[in-house]
Amino acid sequence: MTDIAPEAAAVLAFILGLAFGSFLNVCIYRLPRGKSLLGRSRCPNCDQPVRPYFNVPVVGWMMIRGKCSECRNPISVRYAIVEALIGVLFAVCVLKYGVTLVAVKFAVFGFLIVGLVFTDYDLHLLPDAMTLPGFVIGLIFSFFVPVGGTGFLERRWGYWFEFLPFDYRAPGMSLLAAVLGAAVGAFFIWGVGEAYKRVRGIEGMGLGDVKLMAMVGAFLGVKLTVLTLVFGSVAGSLAGVAAMVTVFSKRVQRYSGQSARAWASAKLVLRHYEMPFGVFLGVMALVSQWYGDRMFAWYLALYQ
Ligand SMILES: [Zn+2]
Repeated sequence: MTDIAPEAAAVLAFILGLAFGSFLNVCIYRLPRGKSLLGRSRCPNCDQPVRPYFNVPVVGWMMIRGKCSECRNPISVRYAIVEALIGVLFAVCVLKYGVTLVAVKFAVFGFLIVGLVFTDYDLHLLPDAMTLPGFVIGLIFSFFVPVGGTGFLERRWGYWFEFLPFDYRAPGMSLLAAVLGAAVGAFFIWGVGEAYKRVRGIEGMGLGDVKLMAMVGAFLGVKLTVLTLVFGSVAGSLAGVAAMVTVFSKRVQRYSGQSARAWASAKLVLRHYEMPFGVFLGVMALVSQWYGDRMFAWYLALYQ
């Protein structure tokens, strides 16, 4: 596979990605609802099986012009968008990393994250069926694709790896970095969730977010996981403020300017507002993975 032209490899990766995107749509719909992944795709409205030739990614959706061929109800353009997204993701991974295990690792990571972002957006659920296998897959990849930022581990604990009967140092360090990344991500979110519960008396962050960050940490290591947490928190807070302002200004209109009444009413709405925090964490995990190292370099250069 090494003598294949990069452009040709990217086109093949794109087509493979479309097929995986089509499978991901099935996962996004069925996993949070506890349904089996086996069985033919069906129209979400009339439950009729989708005809095989309409199952072709993106093209199929265009052929039926976004409408079920049986009941004529609209089928969301999102199915085609998810397929195209995964196609582009696979192609970009191959263009950046070539036909390598690194490309496979980040294609798998992106695939899982896109799936989780959409299930969290739809139903505020991050299914264990995605996060837990994702966590294990992340740990396994750490043996073959070194997780970054192992320098301080080498200095601190590298000594212990000298006792092993074979050269286990590099993969062992990488696994340790992945485990530490997972621990940092999971414990931070768990702690924030607990603090939130004590202050406001309601569940702010579920265990789904904790498991999501364990998976992110296993793939990205400590440094990029911390970056994900920082960016995710900032984005989540901004979205929270935006939601508050939107609800409040709508209430002000409804109560024709009586701001005290509007505020009381808005507070009621916001008390039950649950933010899909996994959406922000997931998107920021991808941003950190693709741009994090460049951002760190740029930030450090400011102080030189
Ligand atoms: Zn239908």
